[in-house]
Amino acid sequence: MQLVMKKVAFYTLGCKLNYSETSTISRKFEEKGYLKVDFTDQPDIFIINTCSVTENADKKCRKIVREARSISPNAYVAIIGCYAQLKPQEISEIPGVDAVLGAAEKFRLVELLDGFVRPETATVFASDINEVDTFNTSYSLHDRTRTFLKVQDGCDYTCSFCTIPLARGSSRSDSIINLVNHAKEIAATGVKEIVLTGVNTGDFGLRNGVREERFIDLIKALDGVEGIERFRISSLEPNLLTDEIIEFVGQSKRFVPHFHIPLQSGSNAILKLMKRRYQRDLYVSRVDKIKSVMPACCIGVDVIVGFPGETREHFLETYQFLNELDISYLHVFTYSERENTLAATLPNAVPMRERNERSKMLHILSDKKRRAFYEKNLGKSFSVLFENDVEDGLMHGFTGNYIRVAAKYDPLLINELKAATLLAINQKGHVEVEELVDNGQLIMDNRASLKTLALITSTPVPSPKEKGKRSF
Ligand code: SF4
Repeated sequence: MQLVMKKVAFYTLGCKLNYSETSTISRKFEEKGYLKVDFTDQPDIFIINTCSVTENADKKCRKIVREARSISPNAYVAIIGCYAQLKPQEISEIPGVDAVLGAAEKFRLVELLDGFVRPETATVFASDINEVDTFNTSYSLHDRTRTFLKVQDGCDYTCSFCTIPLARGSSRSDSIINLVNHAKEIAATGVKEIVLTGVNTGDFGLRNGVREERFIDLIKALDGVEGIERFRISSLEPNLLTDEIIEFVGQSKRFVPHFHIPLQSGSNAILKLMKRRYQRDLYVSRVDKIKSVMPACCIGVDVIVGFPGETREHFLETYQFLNELDISYLHVFTYSERENTLAATLPNAVPMRERNERSKMLHILSDKKRRAFYEKNLGKSFSVLFENDVEDGLMHGFTGNYIRVAAKYDPLLINELKAATLLAINQKGHVEVEELVDNGQLIMDNRASLKTLALITSTPVPSPKEKGKRSF
């Protein structure tokens, strides 16, 4: 008799951390003999991994549940993730939901919901977040190009706008030895780039409230893992981005010259209201240090507009601050009130129209910054990791310093690192490239620091006619 495998589908909202966790949970299902299928492939089970930062989390969750029900009316629907931890009861009342699992329980989903028999009313498994202290290893294995590896979870900071500590608990981490082993496992699957992710990644090293290891030692250990060509750090708080980390990345074989550093506001008064742990001078010193070590380093910035009490003058201070900083792009967030946060109780809310207006101005500034960063790098040579991302006959990839390049589609290039010269910015804002002759010296790292630039200039760059066996 042939056994019919139960089909399970996943839907993930939110950040890289959620993606890494969905991926790990999906592998647990596969190990138990379930078949992972697409959302529309009539699954027997739907797992929806939610996010509390997402705008209208409730509405989104309801919509996905409705869609799941319309695809498979009798399927089992389980909701996990940050929003599930924050509002388990509310979610359990959404029509069509069969189970809600909190931050600690989601990794035991297959065991807790064994059999996946639909209950009369939704089952809720959600411990108090203050009791969540275990670290669950997670990494994504979506495609073979890039993997998100969770190194840290939770946060002990108390930024006044943030609900993440309520959804993910206190700061805790994996150990260096485990992470090195995971990196080796990932390398064995053919992945070339690992992105280190966490809620407060730079706070790596806490276990049960005790600092046992340091982030700098983690990156030093990972730098020696053979097979992984690139490590990227997803985001580091400016107060945790030490000179030691910057200098290490500057000379590393594998860590790429790309930092994403949340700023949130360029006004000291607003930073104080946000309860951030630095003032703008510290941020400037971090950018200056990075650029002195790695002139071609990409620096991304998170910024929030419309925080309560942010006057037009405060906003213009932020705008001016960012305009003058040597940064490469912005991630702009429009402030929106979140229950159970200090910020939501602050006076002087900014009218929504004004918030949107400010967001628009910063989006335009971000485009300008990105373009200027790309332009500065035209004519230079970088290694590009090509992805399985094809549009209008073009494929895309990233340099180590996070320049998005476009090249003529060639399936053989997927998941390959190729040296390329940046030629010009196309209409979509991506950089078109041309491959250089692979003389063994050209798959170089991307820091294009003085060291690398010297290498480039001491290696005569061939003229377009002499160039490559193949142009892409
Ligand atoms: S550092 Fe601040 S913004 Fe980031 S997760 Fe922690 S509390 Fe939230």
